[in-house]
Amino acid sequence: MDKNKLQSEAATLKLFFESYCEGNSHAKRLVRDFTCRHRDFECTMQVELCDECVAMVGYAIERLEKCPYEEKPKCRKCKEPCYEKSMWKKTAKVMRYSGMRLGLLKAKRAALKIFGM
Ligand SMILES: [Zn+2]
Repeated sequence: MDKNKLQSEAATLKLFFESYCEGNSHAKRLVRDFTCRHRDFECTMQVELCDECVAMVGYAIERLEKCPYEEKPKCRKCKEPCYEKSMWKKTAKVMRYSGMRLGLLKAKRAALKIFGM
């Protein structure tokens, strides 16, 4: 996975988790810096999320950073899924919720690309 791809996938996760967090009126949403690293590069972005959602997006981005595949397969079709089952269920819920809420074709396509939903 190259830098641009990681950045765009991380941005998609940010968009979906922020939409979920905001849409469900989670308490104590804070703006925080978030850094993702992969091999020799890193990028920092800002996320506005509650504690629980920031932990979930952190988990998702960590899986992304550690994905061993050059061409990342869709997570649902991966032969060696790296998500724990409970986290996968939670993440899938966020993706479905925000996919509907955002209703953006572009966002849906992006989620489809990452997760195969
Ligand atoms: Zn939240």
